[in-house]
Amino acid sequence: MLPMEQVEAVVIGAGVVGLAVGRALALSGREVIVLESENAIGTGTSSRNSEVIHAGIYYPAGSLKAGLCVQGKQMLYAYCADRGVAHQRLGKLIVATTPEQVLALDGIMAKAASNGVHDLQKLTAAQAQALEPALFCEAALLSPSTGVIDSHGYMLALQGDMENAGGLLALVSPVQHIGVKHGTATHPIRVTTQDGTELACQVLVNAAGLSAMALAERMDGLDISLLPQAHYAKGNYFTLAGKAPFSRLIYPVPEKAGLGVHLTLDLGGQAKFGPDVQWVDDPADLQVDPRRGDAFYAEVRKYWPDMADGALQPGYAGMRPKINAPHEAAADFMIQGPADHGVPGLVNLLGIESPGLTSSLAIAQEVCARLG
Ligand SMILES: Cc1cc2nc3c(=O)[nH]c(=O)nc-3n(C[C@H](O)[C@H](O)[C@H](O)COP(=O)(O)OP(=O)(O)OC[C@H]3O[C@@H](n4cnc5c(N)ncnc54)[C@H](O)[C@@H]3O)c2cc1C
Repeated sequence: MLPMEQVEAVVIGAGVVGLAVGRALALSGREVIVLESENAIGTGTSSRNSEVIHAGIYYPAGSLKAGLCVQGKQMLYAYCADRGVAHQRLGKLIVATTPEQVLALDGIMAKAASNGVHDLQKLTAAQAQALEPALFCEAALLSPSTGVIDSHGYMLALQGDMENAGGLLALVSPVQHIGVKHGTATHPIRVTTQDGTELACQVLVNAAGLSAMALAERMDGLDISLLPQAHYAKGNYFTLAGKAPFSRLIYPVPEKAGLGVHLTLDLGGQAKFGPDVQWVDDPADLQVDPRRGDAFYAEVRKYWPDMADGALQPGYAGMRPKINAPHEAAADFMIQGPADHGVPGLVNLLGIESPGLTSSLAIAQEVCARLG
C-alpha cells in the first residue's frame, strides 16, 4: 500500500473565508492546500451576498461578530487599497420612518459605539433628504465607513496571495471523510476526498460554509455533542429595473430578524433590495418566489414612496448557515478550536453568516491564533 500523502495544513472550502484562512496559513509559512468541491472558487454563499463592507453597528458588544467585523472592515479596506481590489466607501443611511423608530436611533448609536464604531452621525430629515432627495424619513443615521466591494476580485486576490506564498488550491475535490486520529504519527488528521485520495495533516480548518456542520458531524473522533443544530434562512433579493435615485446604501431601522429590506448598490450603481429572511429546510432551495415581491414594495415604499409599480424583478437568493432556530436570538459566529473540542490542529467554522465577508481577514487571523 502507498504511504498516505502528508501536508501540514488542509482548508476545506474555497469561499471567501476558506481562501482568507488559506492565505493566512501560507503567509505564516505553513504548507497548505485548500480543497474545494466545485470547479471554481467562491460559488457558494460568497457569490450570493450583498457585497457590503459592514461597519459593525448592530452586533452584541463583545461578540465575535462585533469584534471581527470592526477589525475585519479595517483590514479589508487596507487590503483593497494595497491589492487594487475594486471597492467604494459609499456610506449608508439608517432611516427612521416612524416616531418610534426615531427613538431607536439613539440605541443603535450607543450599540455601535460599544462596538468601537464612533463615526455615526445623526441627521434630521432635512439633512438626510439633502443627501438623498428621493428619500422619505423622520430622521436618519449616516454610517460613513460602510462600503461595497467586488467580492470576486477580492477572492482572486486572496487566492493569488496564497499561491504566491506556496499554497495550493485543488478544485473538484469534495472532502468526504475526516478521521481526527486516523492519519500518521506526525500528521494525525486524515482527510479523504471523493475520489479516494487520502491526505494526512496536522492542521484542518473546516470552512465549508453551508456544509460545515454536516462535515463536522461526520468527523470520526470529534465529540459531536459540542455541535449546535444547523438551520437555514434564505435571503431573497429583488433587483430594480433602471437606475436608482440613491447614491448611498439605505437601511430601515431593524425590527425583526435580519436588517430589514434594504437597498444596496453594486460598484456599477445597480440597485437591489433585500435580503429578506425566509427560514427553509433545504439549503439548496435558492429559487426566488416572485410572490414575495409584494412585501418588498410595501417595505421599500416606507422610505422610497415614489417607487413605481413594476419596478422590482425577482433577483437571486443567498442562504444563511444559521446555528440558531427561528424563534431564538441570532447566534454569534462559532469558531471551535482545540481549546473547545480537544482535537489538536482542528478548527470548525460554523454559522459564518453576515458579516462573514467583511470579517474574513479577521476570522483568518483568529483561526491562526487559535491554532497557536
Ligand atoms: C443573503 C446573504 C447576504 C450577505 N451579505 C453580506 C454582506 O453584505 N457583507 C458581509 O460581510 N457578509 C455578507 N453575508 C455573509 C457572507 O456572504 C458569508 O459569511 C461568507 O460568504 C461565507 O463564506 P464561506 O467561505 O464561509 O462560505 P462559502 O462561500 O459558502 O464557501 C464554502 C465553500 O466550501 C465548499 N465546500 C462545501 N462542502 C465541501 C466539501 N465537502 N469539500 C470541499 N469543499 C466544500 C463550497 O463549495 C464552497 O465553495 C451574506 C450572506 C448571505 C446569505
